[in-house]
Amino acid sequence: MAVNALVYVELRNGTVSPASLRMFTAARLITAETGGSVHAAIIGHEVTDLAREAADAGADHVHVADRPALEHYRALPYARAVEAAVAASDAGVVLFATSCLSRDLAPRLAARLDAALATDCLGVAWESGELRVRRPMYCAKCVGEIALASDRLRILSIRPNAFAASADGTGASPAITPLDVTLSDDHEPVTMKDLVRASGGSRDLADAEIVVSGGRSLESEENFTMLHELAAELDGAVGASRAAVDAGYQPQARQVGLTGKVVTPQLYIACGIDGAIQHLAGMRGSKVIVAINTKADAPIFGVATYGCVADLFKLVPMITEECRKLEES
Ligand SMILES: Cc1cc2nc3c(=O)[nH]c(=O)nc-3n(C[C@H](O)[C@H](O)[C@H](O)COP(=O)(O)OP(=O)(O)OC[C@H]3O[C@@H](n4cnc5c(N)ncnc54)[C@H](O)[C@@H]3O)c2cc1C
Repeated sequence: MAVNALVYVELRNGTVSPASLRMFTAARLITAETGGSVHAAIIGHEVTDLAREAADAGADHVHVADRPALEHYRALPYARAVEAAVAASDAGVVLFATSCLSRDLAPRLAARLDAALATDCLGVAWESGELRVRRPMYCAKCVGEIALASDRLRILSIRPNAFAASADGTGASPAITPLDVTLSDDHEPVTMKDLVRASGGSRDLADAEIVVSGGRSLESEENFTMLHELAAELDGAVGASRAAVDAGYQPQARQVGLTGKVVTPQLYIACGIDGAIQHLAGMRGSKVIVAINTKADAPIFGVATYGCVADLFKLVPMITEECRKLEES
């Protein structure tokens, strides 16, 4: 039976999040097996022009809820809009990229639609008529494989870098359909009074291909400058352990781990980070992990692809310098 897949296209500051465009690769994987079509849901205000990006990433149909009342994310109106997109697309699977927004929206949607839900997935496969996913369990100590019940809607959130970006668009103009959403602002229990953007720089940690992270051993906010310099050379983002964030060296938006962000970059460079289980929960899915630590038996070396027993204050500037030379040559 054909199964249609609906991708929720997340917007940040009026632009499409690169992480959610990667979900079209997962959507194509499912529809290639089932013969269904790929749909996109775009929700916000003055967002209709963004439909082209969803089509270029692989959407056959784009469903748009474009209303002033949807300018900023609020759980209930957005849940209603995605619900309308599920109905309009006749979706059997809904895909979100793992993010703060999807942590709020996906379970709410699952409860409203009595759907099967699997969050923070690392991989997706369609096997023998079943949707199977891999996801971390027990603080990422192990990875479980789960089959989602096929008698109901299935909702997934997938780690941003679990799939490469797809360029499967047909080049044809997408079918854009306005969504019929009933919004009852008079009865909304939550209203937006003010929006305060978190500090933490422009580059979102979760979208970065390369993350350079520092721990308590950096000793000050000033010393993090050397990590920012290396990240800038590598076109990456800066992360931090909770100890570094608690000490005020970096804003919370940069925290990696169980109570911070989960990242799965191509390259994660851990500088002076011990490797507590709560930190590993946020980064052990990275493709290549480089650890720099003075202590040869630090737990971070247990997950590292390459380990450097070295003083970060000496090694990090040397790596940055070598990267500069490479770029100049
Ligand atoms: C409920 C809960 C949730 C948590 N959530 C998170 C989370 O989301 N993220 C997180 O990170 N932590 C989290 N923690 C905290 C976690 O347990 C650790 O305390 C924290 O990760 C330690 O940070 P750190 O490695 O920077 O510091 P430390 O444990 O102090 O380690 C510093 C490391 O730097 C090395 N070092 C020192 N000097 C140098 C140098 N000059 N060069 C190179 N290496 C050097 C040391 O050998 C050591 O390995 C959580 C804890 C709890 C209880």
